[in-house]
Amino acid sequence: MASVLVVGASIAGPALAFWLQRAGFDTTVVERAPALRPGGQAVDLRGVARQVAVLMGLDDEIRAARTATAGFSVVDRDGIVLSSMRPEDFAGDGQIAEIEILRGDLSRLLYEATSDSIEYIFGERITVVDEQADGVTVEFANGSNRQFDVVIGADGLHSAVRAAIFGDESKFLHDMGTCIGLWSVPNHLGLENWALAYNESGCSAGIRPVHQNREAIVYVSFPSDEIRFDYRDVAAQKQLVRQRTAGMGWEVPLLVAQIDEAPDFYFDTCSQVLLDSWSRGRIGLVGDAAFCPSPLTGQGTSLAFVAAYVLAGELASAGGDYSAGLAAYERRMREWVLDTQLMGREGNADSRLGAVANAFALPHYSSMF
Ligand SMILES: Cc1cc2nc3c(=O)[nH]c(=O)nc-3n(C[C@H](O)[C@H](O)[C@H](O)COP(=O)(O)OP(=O)(O)OC[C@H]3O[C@@H](n4cnc5c(N)ncnc54)[C@H](O)[C@@H]3O)c2cc1C
Repeated sequence: MASVLVVGASIAGPALAFWLQRAGFDTTVVERAPALRPGGQAVDLRGVARQVAVLMGLDDEIRAARTATAGFSVVDRDGIVLSSMRPEDFAGDGQIAEIEILRGDLSRLLYEATSDSIEYIFGERITVVDEQADGVTVEFANGSNRQFDVVIGADGLHSAVRAAIFGDESKFLHDMGTCIGLWSVPNHLGLENWALAYNESGCSAGIRPVHQNREAIVYVSFPSDEIRFDYRDVAAQKQLVRQRTAGMGWEVPLLVAQIDEAPDFYFDTCSQVLLDSWSRGRIGLVGDAAFCPSPLTGQGTSLAFVAAYVLAGELASAGGDYSAGLAAYERRMREWVLDTQLMGREGNADSRLGAVANAFALPHYSSMF
């Protein structure tokens, strides 16, 4: 049985592991964090990604775990509502998608659907990836070595697998000009399935109640110009959030004051990953590692979800020629990905999202059914 190492256990990694297992690959997933990472805002499954959820047999579970957010209002500094939106205003594929689920909940569902049959290694990372004619030798931080037939990086925006095959990320990351920070707080505003957003001087902040309104997720975003930060230095990122939101009105001071007590915290630039190729030989990339379109498109999770299915299908169809399988996966996906990234750069996601989310014909791979 051919073996595949998947690096990263968020969305693309477990989704890929699901389909690889179905296609008969011996699959191992390695994740740097000590456990499945919680946190993140709601992410969306739009258009074709909803079809993949059905093919996985996870549609009911995913729908049951959907956020119950009925819409959101933009407020002024005194909390007075300026405007409001609901999902039905966009036929389920607009700013608020029909299937909107917390990133952490989707990751957990994918993990639970695969963890019985797939080896997950948490708290570990790869240090060396060395390709030979008949396989890929991987060295882990604990000093051990293993050989796999294929290695796939599903390790996000700052992918180590991508760095191993293509070099430093500064060549591929296109900063879209915005940073985003996210953390959980108690639902102290007593919000009932309704989110609030506030804008002041180019900075935005918002709060959304989640998990039956028991808790809430806060986001802040502000321009990323001139910002240099270490994406692993959480304390410095929190300090940056405090500095950039200082003096803002509405509930912002109270929300930011809770940042240290939060059980989770995520901060990054909204960036796109622009690569000429998503693989080299037997080593490939999927999800944000390969083609992050940035959170501004609302399409990152949908792309990762569909790409995981196509990648597994093409590897299974490649008759053992895995580099050809990786190239076929990229040929199928690239146009859709580029169109989505373009939508993000042009900043017209609001009007094009529904069409772009559906603009891909899902191939059928009999080996996975
Ligand atoms: C904690 C968190 C919160 C997020 N919140 C949001 C959000 O609110 N809104 C939004 O639009 N997007 C968010 N994202 C990004 C979103 O999940 C992705 O854009 C999309 O779902 C594609 O996912 P991915 O699996 O390709 O990448 P990611 O979700 O970024 O996952 C990459 C995974 O790889 C792991 N990893 C990284 N480096 C290594 C390594 N060297 N070795 C092993 N594992 C490694 C990471 O810990 C992570 O689990 C978040 C991501 C994370 C990790």
